[in-house]
Amino acid sequence: MLLEEVPVAVDSFHHDQCQAFFCSHAHDDHLKGLSGSWRRGHIYTSQITARLLRRRWPPLQPFLRPLEVGPVHRILLGGAGGLEIEVCLVDANHIPGSVMFVFSGFFGTILYTGDFRFHEDHAHLSVLPLFTRPNAELSRIFLDNTFCHPQFRHASRAEVSRAITKRLISKWPCIAFVAVYKMGKESLLAELARRLKTMVLLPKERLMVTKDLEIGCPFQEQPCNPQSAPADELRRRSLQGCIWAVSRRNLRKSLWQAAESGAAAHAIDPSGWAELSRKEYVPCFEDCHTVSGQEVPVFVSDDGVSHYPYSDHSSFLELVQFLSCLPAAPVTFIESLPVPGPFGYDGEVGMNRLLHEAGVPSIRYSQQGRMRKVDRKRTAAWTCSMELAICPAP
Ligand SMILES: [Zn+2]
Repeated sequence: MLLEEVPVAVDSFHHDQCQAFFCSHAHDDHLKGLSGSWRRGHIYTSQITARLLRRRWPPLQPFLRPLEVGPVHRILLGGAGGLEIEVCLVDANHIPGSVMFVFSGFFGTILYTGDFRFHEDHAHLSVLPLFTRPNAELSRIFLDNTFCHPQFRHASRAEVSRAITKRLISKWPCIAFVAVYKMGKESLLAELARRLKTMVLLPKERLMVTKDLEIGCPFQEQPCNPQSAPADELRRRSLQGCIWAVSRRNLRKSLWQAAESGAAAHAIDPSGWAELSRKEYVPCFEDCHTVSGQEVPVFVSDDGVSHYPYSDHSSFLELVQFLSCLPAAPVTFIESLPVPGPFGYDGEVGMNRLLHEAGVPSIRYSQQGRMRKVDRKRTAAWTCSMELAICPAP
């Protein structure tokens, strides 16, 4: 995204007019425009993300500027004699190496969250040096709005991890296929392996990434692709018990291959999007997890996949908490406003609820490629008219 107030871009690498580029984390949708032949300028990022980018694209090495999380860094835009800005990196609690950026300079102070899962430390962001200086006014918050709707009530990742472990213990030994993206969920895999006293099998590229992250866990290279593994191999692994990380695309194929081979196996899909599919799946009340003190069943689709709401993004309530801990400032959504559909939801309802409950003055958002804005006064009137409309006649 190009920050209008500052000539820098965050998580977007195709702008020619930028004087510096910032990368919040190494998920593909935050690396748009980046490649091994990229030459547009310096990329400021965390030390872990710099390592991951270097492994993926070695020619980027001269352009990477790793920054430590915590201290205030001074950066000259456009070289000597150019404008100076200050930046502070904050752990975003999303995936290894993910950070938020706090920018400060002639434009005021801007917070860019990138993708984040709310952590109790985030409640104290407003005491960071860049926020507490005289005249340091928070001028804008760029916010991760991935799950900005009250229907997303994620349990903590620790709670979901315990629920998955409980289910697997009752089936052990078996092969537990766990769906993952190219990055992320490493701590879940490590936690499952630790509790079940077993190993995690991974494709080679992903194994190299875990080495960069220095996670202490028995990760091993998979002997073959699980969706085309020989029956003997699958039966042997199922008798020993193991965690096998697979792409979401290959989760069901791997489960079917194991079933045809006579190997005991279970498929786990840990994703915040599980909340969207609840109506279509069968609730399994044996394996509950807790949200706000209430027991919530795990949902199993008819192809045998168990769906757990393990989310690396903040829930709606966490977004409200996060904004409530900061000085009131206009918000810009980082992601386009979602629309209802099989893999979407009514983003407008969620946005209006956030505006109302978090007390922010306005929200800017992208819809069908155009930037729009809604302010709190209008939403208050909208909410009021909705209440009048549903109020029964006396
Ligand atoms: Zn991400």
